[in-house]
Amino acid sequence: MSENLEKLCKTLLTEIGENPEREGLVRTPTRYIKAIKELTAGYDQTVEEIVGTAIFEEDISEMVLVKNIEFYSLCEHHILPFFGKAHVAYIPNGKIIGLSKIPRIVKMFARRLQVQERLTEDITKSLNELLQPHGVACMIEASHMCTMMRGIQAQNSKMVTNSMKGQFLKSPMTRDEFLSLANG
Ligand code: ZN
Repeated sequence: MSENLEKLCKTLLTEIGENPEREGLVRTPTRYIKAIKELTAGYDQTVEEIVGTAIFEEDISEMVLVKNIEFYSLCEHHILPFFGKAHVAYIPNGKIIGLSKIPRIVKMFARRLQVQERLTEDITKSLNELLQPHGVACMIEASHMCTMMRGIQAQNSKMVTNSMKGQFLKSPMTRDEFLSLANG
């Protein structure tokens, strides 16, 4: 597997006009494959594995918000990075999740080839299934290298996506509270 990938990377280097045998590039295929495997390690993980036993019964019904979760992902259209921050909230319905688990879930889904819209949805969908909360919301703001470095070179534009379920979808007040906390 790795050998094939290294060959592929060598071919890529040759095709763009490089000499894969020159000193600086000799070990690049090995390094590149190692990096790309790390950046897509989310394929080998599951939410269940990450969460383990960190779900607790608790009689809380106030919004829980985890802000500014940094993530790095790869867009599936160009295999170029997009990165930014995710804000995730839920309203418990008898169950809460260990707080460190939410950033880990975000990272797991980010370490797959993604489009930002689906990444946002993957996060709310998995928390919805895990916790059956009154509601769950995710907002992601990200910069995409494929638009920043190529074509229109929109360096400062950020893409914002939202996914809302349950109470966040039904109640404009809950939704506004989340958005102002996330933006504030
Ligand atoms: Zn792209």
